[in-house]
Parts: sequence; structure tokens; C-alpha cells
Amino acid sequence: MATTEIKTGPRGVRRTVRSQRTTEGGGFVVRRPFPVPGLDQIDPFLLIDHLGPVDYGPGEAVGAPDHPHRGFETVTYLLEGEQTHADSAGNHGVLRAGDVQWMTAGRGVVHAEMPSERLVREGGRTHGFQIWVNLPKADKMAAPRYQDVPAATIPVVTTDDGAVLRVIAGSAYGQRGAVETHTPIEYVHATLPPGTAVEVPAPSTMNAMAYVISGAGTFGPHGAPGAESDLVVFADDGDVATLANAADADGPLDVLVLAGEPLREPIARYGPFVMNSRSELVQAVEDYEAGRMGAIV
Ligand code: MN
Repeated sequence: MATTEIKTGPRGVRRTVRSQRTTEGGGFVVRRPFPVPGLDQIDPFLLIDHLGPVDYGPGEAVGAPDHPHRGFETVTYLLEGEQTHADSAGNHGVLRAGDVQWMTAGRGVVHAEMPSERLVREGGRTHGFQIWVNLPKADKMAAPRYQDVPAATIPVVTTDDGAVLRVIAGSAYGQRGAVETHTPIEYVHATLPPGTAVEVPAPSTMNAMAYVISGAGTFGPHGAPGAESDLVVFADDGDVATLANAADADGPLDVLVLAGEPLREPIARYGPFVMNSRSELVQAVEDYEAGRMGAIV
């Protein structure tokens, strides 16, 4: 029987990945550390997209009109702006600044992720993230599910030295996020004023990473540097992801910390579908084209 050695202490840094810019949906630019050529995923995370910050003039804002998903979860976290959501299961909602939507596509949905009418009409700033979390084989064809997580329900921790952590999923500093995940996931938004440091729990059995939203800081016990748009990938030699902002920094360090237990299952990926085999992908395309994922009404 295989044994897993439990490792404790701060995790080192394995590599730092620079984001690439690409265009998504109706024509908005995202910064994307993965998937890119040479880095398909960091199991169980399939994608990190950093949208904006972008200042739209009146009539300029664009989103992602009707499109399907199957086999994984899309997690939207809006820092600024206003996004409407509608899907083939009849769900409608609005995400505002600080809100999270954790959408389990499961066997399939068709949805539209659009700027609100007000944002289109008046223009304004949009800033946010979409992260894709893979589902284990056993859950890929589960019923679709939405977890709407309004900003007010996301636990906020302020450390003794003034760093702020928003615990979206998993737990940190005694606070637990409200999201139910299919496999163990940590998702923490940490904001570190100059001269502060935080430790986010990330067992050595999880893949762990930190995406720098803005600012620049140091990561791990040897102070590996990371700046805006960088993804810092931690080694599996400890159980805590450490990050720090220097006392003489120009401003705050704003970071997403993500960790998850790898699924270690085969991946077959085609656009908005992520399954385990090519035949399952073909089936997904057929089901979508036959209307079996429904339509937005
Ligand atoms: Mn989508």
C-alpha cells in the first residue's frame, strides 16, 4: 500500500509563470498564466483568466454570450464592475464587486456571462477572474449546480499586522469559506500592505500557487520574487504557502492563493468541454449541437 509522507513548514517555490495576453468571449482581453502552450493545467485547476482592470466607455463593455460547458466548474470572482448571468437551467443573477459565482457545469449548461445593462449604458471599470476547476471523473456528469456567494458572506480575516484575507473556499486563520467543493480546494484572496506577511494552509498533497493581481512580493522560505501577472507555483515540500510584502514596497501586494488536491486522471479538452477521453468529447459536442444542454430562454 502506498504511503504519503506528510510534510510540514513553508513550501518552496517550484517555478514562476508569466501570464500571456489573449482575447476571450465577445472580445475582452485576459491575462492567462495557463492553459498556454507548455502548461496545460495545474491539476485540478484548468484555467486562470484575469480580466482587466479595464475602463469601458458607454456602449463598449463586452462579455461572453451564450456558450456551453461540460465536465468542470467555472468560478467567477468580480473585484469591480457588474456582470449578469443567465443559463439554460433558467437561472438568472447579477454579480457585483466582491461576489463569487461557483458554477458546476457537470453534464452541461449553456450560459451567458455579460456586463450588466447599466455597465453597457454608462461604461465603467471591470476587473475580475475566472478560474476553471476540474471535476473528478465520477462527478463530470453530475447535475449542474450554482453556488452564489455574495461578498457579504465571504469571511474576511484581518491579521495582527494588517493583512486582509478573503476566504472564498477552504479555510485560513480559523475562517472557512462557504463554498462546497467536490474535492479539497483552497481559494483565498490576500491583500498585504507593505511590511506584512501571511501563511495560507496548503497541505503537501495539494498543488498550490499564488497569482499576483497587483504589486510585487516574495514567496516561500527563500523569498522568491513575484510581480503583477505572475503565477508563483509552490513546491510540495511543506504545508503552508507563505507570501510577504516588503516594508519599503510602493504599495499593497494583492494575490489569489489557490490550492487543490490533484485528480491525476486523464484529460481530454476541447474548448468549453473537459472530459477524460476523446469519445466523451465527441459526445459532448453532439449533445450540445443536438440541444441536449438546453438553451437560454
Ligand atoms: Mn462560461
